[in-house]
Amino acid sequence: MPHTLLLAEPRGFCAGVVRAIDVLDAVLDREPTPIYAFHEIVHNRHVVEGFRARGTVFVDRIDEVPEGGRIVFSAHGVAPEVVEEARRRRLRVIDATCPLVTKVHLETRKAAKDGFDILLVGHRGHDEVVGTLGEAPDRTTVVDSADEVVGLPGRTRPVFVVTQTTLSLDDTAQVIDAIRSQYPSAQVRNDICYATTNRQLAVRALAERSDLVLVVGSSNSSNSVRLREVAASLGKPAYRVDGIEEIDPAWYEGVGIVGLTAGASVPDELLDPIIDDLRRRGVTRVEPVVVAEETVVFQPPTGIDGEPLTDITARR
Ligand code: SF4
Repeated sequence: MPHTLLLAEPRGFCAGVVRAIDVLDAVLDREPTPIYAFHEIVHNRHVVEGFRARGTVFVDRIDEVPEGGRIVFSAHGVAPEVVEEARRRRLRVIDATCPLVTKVHLETRKAAKDGFDILLVGHRGHDEVVGTLGEAPDRTTVVDSADEVVGLPGRTRPVFVVTQTTLSLDDTAQVIDAIRSQYPSAQVRNDICYATTNRQLAVRALAERSDLVLVVGSSNSSNSVRLREVAASLGKPAYRVDGIEEIDPAWYEGVGIVGLTAGASVPDELLDPIIDDLRRRGVTRVEPVVVAEETVVFQPPTGIDGEPLTDITARR
């Protein structure tokens, strides 16, 4: 049975998720419910259920929100047409889009204006990709894998490449190589964010020393799913779970060293019961595996209707 637990550092919440959660938290504290959120505020089942219990209504369409209602856009960002529709319905909007996602939107918008065709490397249908695609839908092609690059047509316009922020480092490098082969003069921005990068490097270092890797995160969390894939790519048994309730104790049979990490949308408290349970099963040594120290903090947003959120600033 396990005797050692390795904890990836960094793991769990990134600065963009902290910001989005703080914003919704503050709005719920000071305004009457329901408060609407466009898509899941972050991709974590426990976080979303907690906010739902406090009076947040998660919607996938703007017309589900009554005119004049308060709505918070999620960390994953939204397409300009969503912003426009919210304006038309006179919704009171707070945009909790992660600034690193906003940066990709701005790059995409500028590239389209400058006459480029855009290749958006990312997972088709993911909230972030849908939002970025909306910046220049007539000019943008989503590329989900290196295999898809082969089938892309020749271009008369120059090619500009942007990426989803939460992709696999290794897979994205392959896709970008394939794009460079096909379009040698393509201008490439690799937009995988610092948090995704650090968590993947940490799980790799962790997996090299572990007999089993557990990743806490929801199935729709791109960066959590990638963490499990990175561990599995090193030949280690690796499972993604939403929490301790999804762990099968049989996974621990014959395992001496367990590695544990969590996606960027996962509160650390979800790991506590797993750690306690492992101690009860005989773990006596808990060791951090540190690859980076994160100090990134994002300023809170201003409502796009111009309302300052001073009380949110004060909470930090
Ligand atoms: Fe922002 Fe990266 Fe966190 Fe996404 S994972 S919210 S892009 S910091």
